[in-house]
Amino acid sequence: MTIGPYTLTPVETGRFALDGGAMFGVVPKNLWNRTNPADEQNRIDMALRALLIQGNGMNILVDTGMGDKYDEKTLAIYKLDHSKWTLLSSLEQYGLKAGDITHVIQTHLHFDHCGGLVTQTAVGDLVPTFPNAKVFVQKENLKWARNPTEKDRASYLKHDWEPIAASGMLEEVDGPGEILPGIHLRIFNGHTRAQQLPLVSDGTTSVFFCADLFPTKAHINLPWIMGYDNFPLTTLEEKRALLPEAYQAGWKLFLEHDPQSGLISLESTPKGFRAVA
Ligand SMILES: [Zn+2]
Repeated sequence: MTIGPYTLTPVETGRFALDGGAMFGVVPKNLWNRTNPADEQNRIDMALRALLIQGNGMNILVDTGMGDKYDEKTLAIYKLDHSKWTLLSSLEQYGLKAGDITHVIQTHLHFDHCGGLVTQTAVGDLVPTFPNAKVFVQKENLKWARNPTEKDRASYLKHDWEPIAASGMLEEVDGPGEILPGIHLRIFNGHTRAQQLPLVSDGTTSVFFCADLFPTKAHINLPWIMGYDNFPLTTLEEKRALLPEAYQAGWKLFLEHDPQSGLISLESTPKGFRAVA
């Protein structure tokens, strides 16, 4: 897909699974299980889909998957599956090496969004995966990640970003705005503090990267809100405000975690907005 000077390409980095109850909050299982069937441990399949934006001499990544700095027990809990794709193998398919990435936009610092930023070497050192990249994080999200609540402490793992901070590659962004030509960041605070979501637009065609505001297409439904969210009523209002804007402007929505659909449009129905694959 082309938008202005940019070519946009989905980058599959692997698959994992999370508890279906936690993914859908107050929604009963007999509803969510129809669209997102649970396995024997009640987990649903999740994609780890990054976005590659290329143009104007830049190779920009939005989010970096989950990475592979996990012990056996954690791998099993999250059903992490890199058998078909990894971040680097998918980039290689597009002719890119790690050194070619010029910018990374991290929507937030939860491990399933930024785990690919840092690689563990054979001798156990933690090194930046993309040595030539500038890494954009929201100042407020970094602050929260370093001092999380008990509720989302398990999702913020310091080894995912501190080696990047130590190497001077981290670029702290304070609030919304145009981060690169034609790429605007919006800020959302329901899931965690200061999730930054990029809108790539040339005025005619627009793609919005949803990350954990709409993790799967089922989450387009207003009350389908993750139990993981720190401020679910804020998420509700953020969704309520964004959907009509996205529908009226004809945005495509890029879904990071939906196991089937990476890109959807919206339709307006008497019951509210729905995803069209
Ligand atoms: Zn998250």
